[in-house]
Amino acid sequence: MDFYPVAIEKLIEEFGKLPSIGYKTAQRLTLHVLNLPKEEVEEFAKALIEARGTIKYCSICGNYTDKDPCGLCSNPSRNKNVICVVEQPKDIIAMEKVREFNGVYHVLHGNISPMAGRGPSDIRLKELISRMNGEIREVIVATNPNIEGEATAMYISKILKPLEVMVTRIAHGIPVGGDLEYADEVTLSKALEGRKQI
Ligand SMILES: [Zn+2]
Repeated sequence: MDFYPVAIEKLIEEFGKLPSIGYKTAQRLTLHVLNLPKEEVEEFAKALIEARGTIKYCSICGNYTDKDPCGLCSNPSRNKNVICVVEQPKDIIAMEKVREFNGVYHVLHGNISPMAGRGPSDIRLKELISRMNGEIREVIVATNPNIEGEATAMYISKILKPLEVMVTRIAHGIPVGGDLEYADEVTLSKALEGRKQI
């Protein structure tokens, strides 16, 4: 499809690589960018490069951060004996909005999905085990309430059991097949309250 000059086709192709952006949307975004003032496009490009260049994973919890350890891990008022395990950094934002959890986090950056060929070694489980220093009182598994999230929770419970750590799973309220990110604060708060040992 050589309807456009190469530079335009290239930009459409790049936008098209983003999640849930099809060709038509990529085309619309590209044409939008072409109509922006030059300075605005420069700001946009700079923001992309800066974010990618300065943001890294926290070496403790795996959350996105610009300083290591991240603000949550280095906060002295957070309870370091309770770890809430989530699939993605965005789930931390959801949990933090509830304002009921005062522990620290562990981001897996994915889940276990035999169907998609993702096993335990594809997520940050080794890093989670290495955090079990004898002082961890509870690990709350807040993976998504779908097949992959449940499989991941069960696996975590199995590997932490020999280490004598209490493993709980957030329970009520989150609809099965739902996504933690989209749960409202009351639902998430109830889910945290009603967690069960697994
Ligand atoms: Zn951290």
